[in-house]
Amino acid sequence: MNNNLVFYGTGAAEAIPSPFCSCRVCRFAREHGGREERARSMLRVSDELSLDLGPDAVLRAMRFGDLTKLRHVLVTHTHLDHFSYDMMEVRSMSLDAQEPLVFWLTDEAFRAVECFRTSEFLGAETDRLLKKGAMEFRRLEYGKTETVAGVRVTPLRGNHRGQIGENSANYLLELPDGRTLYYGLDTGWYLPETFEALRGRALDLLVSECTYGLTPDRGEQPEGHLDAFACERLIHALFEQGTLTASSRVYLTHINHHASTGAELTAWFAQRSFPCPVTVAWDGMRIGEEER
Ligand SMILES: [Zn+2]
Ligand SMILES: [Zn+2]
Repeated sequence: MNNNLVFYGTGAAEAIPSPFCSCRVCRFAREHGGREERARSMLRVSDELSLDLGPDAVLRAMRFGDLTKLRHVLVTHTHLDHFSYDMMEVRSMSLDAQEPLVFWLTDEAFRAVECFRTSEFLGAETDRLLKKGAMEFRRLEYGKTETVAGVRVTPLRGNHRGQIGENSANYLLELPDGRTLYYGLDTGWYLPETFEALRGRALDLLVSECTYGLTPDRGEQPEGHLDAFACERLIHALFEQGTLTASSRVYLTHINHHASTGAELTAWFAQRSFPCPVTVAWDGMRIGEEER
């Protein structure tokens, strides 16, 4: 089975159903299962490359494909639903992994490595894992392109703050088949510099957070996280500046339990009008699969 462009998780930090929650959305998800269940967000780009590696990767790998060939992780930001120390431990316990798993962190997020190493809690363990060759940390710079696992990768600044206050990295990927994909999570309303960097890019694929779903009144251009209404405005704004075209495809992920079930969110997007197809993604969905 190939793992190209598979959503290993499409939920926000609390997941759906959230284990400690009995709200309407979580109860609906328990009752219906399937596409209503959302693990913490992660996109497997290829066998070798993933966007984030959150705490649910262990269980999602059992269902959607193991991580034995995974070599590189592009970290969007240091929130623990995206960047899990436990996954480094799990990697270090492999009996046959030969090379380190490389975590790519952008600019300020790279400080997390120093935070690990100087911490009384994680310092000695981090040094042990690095010495053992379980993982390796490498640095990316906003706006600078690097080739990672055959994919040209350019991080752009997101309007979302991680665990150590850093801006998130959203990733512009040029895939080996020539398609472009922008991974906008977590992002909030795009910063002016990010709109500018994406102007006229005619993306093939946009994967965007839609964290708050149908939560109303979060503002025209919410910081930190998007909702369905902001996503709608964003899609139109990106279309107007040539970032999206009629042949682009948009996928929504990183969805929380605050206001809407998956079915409600999907129905809402289906009755709005967009310049290109928009799909509310689900765990296990492969990009392109929604068209068959
Ligand atoms: Zn998140
Ligand atoms: Zn809930």
